Order: sequence, then structure tokens, then C-alpha cells
Amino acid sequence: MGSRFVDTIPSLSCDDDKSDDEYAFVRALRMSGGDGANSYSANSLLQRRVLSMARPVLVRNTEDMMMNLDFPGYIKVAELGCSSGQNSFVAISEIINTVNLLCQQLNKNPPEIDCCLNDLPENDFNTTFKFVPFFNNELMITNKSSCFVYGAPGSFYARLFSRNSLHFVHSCYALHFLSKVPEKHVNDKGSVYITSSSPQSTYKAYLNQFQKDFTLFLRLRSEEIVSNGRMVLTFIGRNTLNSDPLYRDCCHFWTLLSKSLRDLVFEGHVSESKLDEFNMPFYDPNEQELEEVIRNEGSFEINDLEKHVFDLGLSNNNNEEDDYEAGYNEANCIRAVTEPMLVAHFGEDIIDILFDRYAHHVANHASCRNKTSVTLVVSLTKK
Ligand code: SAH
Repeated sequence: MGSRFVDTIPSLSCDDDKSDDEYAFVRALRMSGGDGANSYSANSLLQRRVLSMARPVLVRNTEDMMMNLDFPGYIKVAELGCSSGQNSFVAISEIINTVNLLCQQLNKNPPEIDCCLNDLPENDFNTTFKFVPFFNNELMITNKSSCFVYGAPGSFYARLFSRNSLHFVHSCYALHFLSKVPEKHVNDKGSVYITSSSPQSTYKAYLNQFQKDFTLFLRLRSEEIVSNGRMVLTFIGRNTLNSDPLYRDCCHFWTLLSKSLRDLVFEGHVSESKLDEFNMPFYDPNEQELEEVIRNEGSFEINDLEKHVFDLGLSNNNNEEDDYEAGYNEANCIRAVTEPMLVAHFGEDIIDILFDRYAHHVANHASCRNKTSVTLVVSLTKK
């Protein structure tokens, strides 16, 4: 598949008429499967930290949902973009434990619960499903409860569930993935995402694609969620301390990935045009952009919109050896998220060397004081 790209003249205007083959890497979007050293399952501790930030919002909205719906005898919960491994169950456990605890406290009968795990069809659901007995066992020990687990393969930019069937939807670190790469400006070369030197038109193209995708997502979920049902959604956001929408700090993961790919161009492993063709189907909204889409779409009321700023904490060390190890940890984390897309576009041969460069760049930025990440947590009620 990779060799087809070598002969392709890159059309940097990136419009909707691009042949499917040019965006084959978008179709390869998924996390690395299995439970080996380079898998998502073994390299997603950061995402678990993020899940814990959203916990208070998750608990509060689960309780409110149960009370507003007057303690239904049955509820259906969906985890969208569940990926593979144990992370798929972190939020769902929290929701089920909250429901059962509340029912015990208020002397209500606990509901029967269906849990639907969604991701793209190529996701490694098997690695997730192997944890189901362990997950149900834990629920039994904690709360004498259990649930029925189902897979729901498909894009969340399409209908996934029957009308008026869902009571609670959760999604963490998945909705910043776009359905496609947006139009890109002709001058924006050598980088896989928006950078400080990108033209404004690149920012506008990404924002426009995000608005289209997230509006569609809300419309589709509004058909599937019962009235007064809830959603808790967590996104990678961006820092608005600097009002420039192009600003990403020098340690931003896509900035470091672009830098590492440029190293490979310089060393002759990758052609310049090949790098120019590769762009992340990703957008990191700020709070205003997120809120505007929700208000304009109109099906949901906003309950909470929280911003959490935290240090990635992967490279905050006092000596060079630790910096080096932290560099590899962060490189492995980004590798687990991007490897299938990178392999689809550049081939397998560059992957080890690319993430070796990436680890070095992280280590070189160890003393940067501005490597903060932004997470946005929004909770919504279906009107
Ligand atoms: N929620 C998990 C996984 C985050 S990784 C956690 O917190 O650890 C993001 C996941 O979203 C990936 O598994 C990816 O395949 C999935 N994803 C991206 N776009 C998607 C889409 N359009 N439909 C369904 N899943 C999608």
C-alpha cells in the first residue's frame, strides 16, 4: 500500500475530491492492538489520568440522570471510542458503581444495565472483551452488581443505536479525531498539524471540519438518547492563554512528531512530498468553540464545561538518564496512538527510527516550563 504514495504528486489544496487512496491513513485510524510492549493497552496511563479528572462530573451526572428519569428499571450506557484494553471499563465501572450506590442509599431497586462498547470496526475489541469476566467480577465484589456487555463497531459519525434507546453516553479522548483531513492551505508544508507558522486558512479549515463533525455527532446522539438522558465528553483542548489560534507550545505532541518526521526527511528515509501528504485528522477545540457548536446544534443543554490544565509529567526529571527514559515513555504513548496510521502511509520500516527521534526531542525539551496539556470535560442533558 505504501508504495502507491511514492508516485503521487501531492495536491496540497486537499479538497473533498481527493481520491480515497491519498487518505488511506485516515481509514487506518485506530490504536495499536494487543497487549504487547507497543500496544495502546500497555501505553495508555496518561489517558487513565485524564479519565480520573472527569470523575466528579461523571458521578454527578450519573446521579442526576437516575433521579431525573425516576430510577428506571433498565438503563443502557454507551462508551464511545472505547479503544482496547482496560481503559474501556474505567468510566463504565464508575457509572455502574454510582448507580448502585445511589439505589442502595435511597432504598431503590437497582436497574439492569446494558453496556455498549463502541469503536471503529478495526479496533482490537478482542483485547477488551477478554477483560469482561474480570470487570463483572470486580462489580460483583464492590457492589454485588453486574452488567451485560456488547460491542458496537462503527463510526460515531454515523447512527450506532436505535432511536430513544440510550440513557447515558460517555466518551474520553476520542472526539478530537475528525472524520477526515480537512482542506489544507498550499503553503503549509512539513508539518502534520497546525503550528505557529501555519497560515490562518489552515486553522479555519480544521475548525470548519470539527464544527461539521461535532454537529453531526450531536444530531445523531440526540436521536439515540432518551429525553433527560446524559452525555459526558472529554476532549484534548488547547491553551487559550495565548489568543492566537495557531499557537501550540514547542513540546506539543504533533509539533514533536512533525519535527521527528522532518529529521527522517533530512536523513533521506522519507521524501518531502510524502510528509506533506500526511496530516492528522484531529482538532483541539477551545471552550468557546466547543460551546458554540453545542448551542448552535440545539439538542442538548450544557451542565458542566470544565477546563483542566496539567503538566504532561512525562519528562519532568532532574537528570539526563531520567529525561531519556521519560522521552521513551512519551514516544511510546504517541506511538500507540499513531502507529497504524503512520504505517499505512510511510510503511513499517521508519517506525522504530521515527520514535527514537521523537524520544530524543522530548528529552531535549525536558527543561521547558510551558509543556501543559489542556483537557475539556463537558456534560450535556438531552432536551
Ligand atoms: N477512550 C479510550 C480511548 C481513547 S483513544 C481512553 O480513554 O483510553 C481514541 C479512540 O477513539 C480510538 O480507539 C479510536 O479508534 C476511536 N475513534 C476515533 N474516531 C472514531 C470514530 N469516528 N468512531 C468511533 N471511534 C473512533
